[in-house]
Amino acid sequence: MCCGSRDSRFRMMSAEPLGDEAALVTELVGDQAGAWELSGELPRDLLGELGKRGLLCAEVGVEYGGLGASSLHNGEFTAHVGGLSSSLRSVMTSQGMAAWTIQRLGRPDQRKAALCQLTSGKLAAVGMSETGAGSDLSAMSTTVRYEGDWVVLDGNKVWVTGALYADLLVIFARSGNAGAVVAVPASAPGVHVERLAEPAGCRAAGHAVVRLESVRLPVSSVLGGGNQPLSMLVTIALAYGRTSVAWGCVGIARACVQAAVRHAKTRSQFGKPLAEHQLVARHLAEQLADEQVATRVCEHASRCWDSGSSEMIIASVLAKHVSAGCAARAATSAWQVLGSAAARSDHVVARAYQDAKLMEIIEGSNEMCQLMLAEHALSTI
Ligand code: FAD
Repeated sequence: MCCGSRDSRFRMMSAEPLGDEAALVTELVGDQAGAWELSGELPRDLLGELGKRGLLCAEVGVEYGGLGASSLHNGEFTAHVGGLSSSLRSVMTSQGMAAWTIQRLGRPDQRKAALCQLTSGKLAAVGMSETGAGSDLSAMSTTVRYEGDWVVLDGNKVWVTGALYADLLVIFARSGNAGAVVAVPASAPGVHVERLAEPAGCRAAGHAVVRLESVRLPVSSVLGGGNQPLSMLVTIALAYGRTSVAWGCVGIARACVQAAVRHAKTRSQFGKPLAEHQLVARHLAEQLADEQVATRVCEHASRCWDSGSSEMIIASVLAKHVSAGCAARAATSAWQVLGSAAARSDHVVARAYQDAKLMEIIEGSNEMCQLMLAEHALSTI
């Protein structure tokens, strides 16, 4: 879809592979995204359908039943989904982050078992945050205790996106002085998933509190055998999450530009279309600039990812930080152009406004990203 003519220099969406899949998602979502936000729930058959096609974690390799998409192609697909529904995109990010964590940390048998499930309709969520451990994940207090051939988990995770829909919970925990990541079936005795009441934004993303009360699992549930630094485990998972959220922000920004441009062309005040009032046109220009900046920084992160560049970690931080800011600005500006026309909870721009704010908080808040970027600048210049 283009902002302007087909030959426009600034393409709003690349003709990347996964184009058929993007069309399928457009069709399946239809005009329901606003209604899902009001009801606070995504249709489970939609999640099952996308899951079975491997579309919720498209980067998983074909050997595990996945699509083997590159980060760049999956990124464009993620942006497409993000433009339709940030709740659906959030579930996709959780599934992709769980899959990436399993792929990076799991032994071959663990990878085969878990990834094949995630490409055949089972859903996963990732639990890191706790009441006392938000930005500071080193304060995590969930523990894994080894008892012979078994491990026992105790702790509480908060704000676990997609947990309401999940079959598998990828839980980050403390194991003595080290960290461990455990694949926990949501149906295991001692696992309690409680819906988060009335979340603001991404309301249908299935956010939940997960209580783990003496959850006893075979020791083979610990990915890769455990005993790795917690900070390293968290960094691995968040690199995927940040890149995915960043692409989701590109989708938010695109949806905002499209809504604002359409409105500015068709709504007239003072005898001419809003688009012909220069102060309104400036809004459109700034929104397009934000959408383009977000796209470029995400493309850079995905190219680093696809080429295995050592810059991948910092590029994902940069992409998430810049894109979240771009999406938040584009949503504020688009709402200004739409005026009262967007002042409905289910309107695409009203949803974008709230969802984009959340993107400045999750996967490393603005401030956390700034600290990491500053540290990078100090160490390299
Ligand atoms: P705090 O850490 O309390 O921070 C509050 C404010 O203080 C922020 O602005 C922060 O930037 C600032 N601050 C904190 N420390 C510093 C510092 N040293 N210097 C400067 N400023 C600082 N977690 C999961 O594990 N899994 C999920 O799937 C998940 N999904 C989420 C979805 C949503 C919609 C939301 C809102 C949260 C989700 N989270 C999830 C939790 C999320 O990762 C945390 O909210 C985030 O890390 C911030 O933690 P906090 O909310 O506790 O804020």
